[in-house]
Amino acid sequence: MQKNTVILKPGKEKPIVNRHHWIFSGALQHLPDFENGALLPVHSSDGTLLGSAYFNRNAKIIGRMVAFDAMDPMESIKSHIKQAIDLRRTFYQPESTNAYRLINGEGDGLPGLVVDIYDRTLVVQISTLGIEKLLPQILETLTALLKPKTIFEKSSSPSRKEEGLKEVKRLLQGDVVGEISIRENGLRFYVDIPSGQKTGFFLDQSGMRQWVRELAKGKRVLNTFSYTGGFSIYALAGGATHVDSVDISAPAIELLRRNLDLNGFKAGQAGIFCDDVFKYLRERALDYDLVILDPPAFAKRKSDVVAACRGYKDINRLAMEKMPPKSLLLTCSCSYHVDEGLFQQVLFQAAVEAKRNVRILGRHRQAFDHPVNLCHPEGNYLKSFLLYVE
Ligand code: SAH
Repeated sequence: MQKNTVILKPGKEKPIVNRHHWIFSGALQHLPDFENGALLPVHSSDGTLLGSAYFNRNAKIIGRMVAFDAMDPMESIKSHIKQAIDLRRTFYQPESTNAYRLINGEGDGLPGLVVDIYDRTLVVQISTLGIEKLLPQILETLTALLKPKTIFEKSSSPSRKEEGLKEVKRLLQGDVVGEISIRENGLRFYVDIPSGQKTGFFLDQSGMRQWVRELAKGKRVLNTFSYTGGFSIYALAGGATHVDSVDISAPAIELLRRNLDLNGFKAGQAGIFCDDVFKYLRERALDYDLVILDPPAFAKRKSDVVAACRGYKDINRLAMEKMPPKSLLLTCSCSYHVDEGLFQQVLFQAAVEAKRNVRILGRHRQAFDHPVNLCHPEGNYLKSFLLYVE
């Protein structure tokens, strides 16, 4: 065994053997001297080489595996980047969809790294010091495989603080980036990469947006927490007779207005409200056949769960109380800490308080470009229910 190796306590190798990426400090028997962010080999207590991980003493998750067994760590990273790109190419055709998540962290075997593609622009999100140190090689691989026009970094995940990293927004390579237009399932959207929310667009809901297109024919639709109008445009494309959209962000609403134009929809088909959704649901009559509730993550931390459930219950109860009989409610939660079972309980409670009979017609998770590694269920955060309000 080399001197600079990490050794796990007896029994603590099991998750790693099963291909989980994370190592907590309690699993460590021996940690050599190293500079935070360094790549180190990891052995079990009986001396078996388990793979390689990058380590940071300041982080709760002290190590993250980037290669298993004897595979060279850089070769493993390159191979995972290539596999991630190949996977997306099997189900996205650039003529209809040219924006999606290209690399989804642990879901693609690349802990700490997220890359979204918007036409020929890549937006990189780094959440760990280990990946930050490997960035030059990662950029080289991405450039060789995709020849992007621009690579922009937009890293703001809360975990960066404990990793000793600041929030970053910077051009890494190529042309200056601003607003661009993208295609998703044949529809078009302006995306403001530097100033928009997340990396510019909520790519994880693309499968749900398709679902809304299928459901919307002949319906009056309310799209709350609309952002730049993703669900609104799909609903109109699917034949909705009218769509009202509500979001509190003025820049998002301005882009929504322009996205309606870009797809050829008339102002008369759409109501646009820059408003607080809680207020809108309280004050308005909700005479819609389909209501969409897609709020931001109410529970960002485990300690937020109780307050978050109250928020989810409130918006769902308000909608259920006022929606007409035989209407549809599409309701989502992107809080990892509120799992599907808990979210369903919250919806049950909302229905009881609203005194409505509510049935589940379907469920949906995040889109194909956000794969969840079976060995890493922590990647499973987004859940949606399609409900029938009798
Ligand atoms: N459904 C969208 C994504 C929603 S993200 C899509 O498919 O693109 C959540 C949105 O909720 C953000 O645009 C944010 O501005 C908005 N938001 C957050 N709190 C709000 C509130 N209290 N009232 C209205 N909008 C709110």
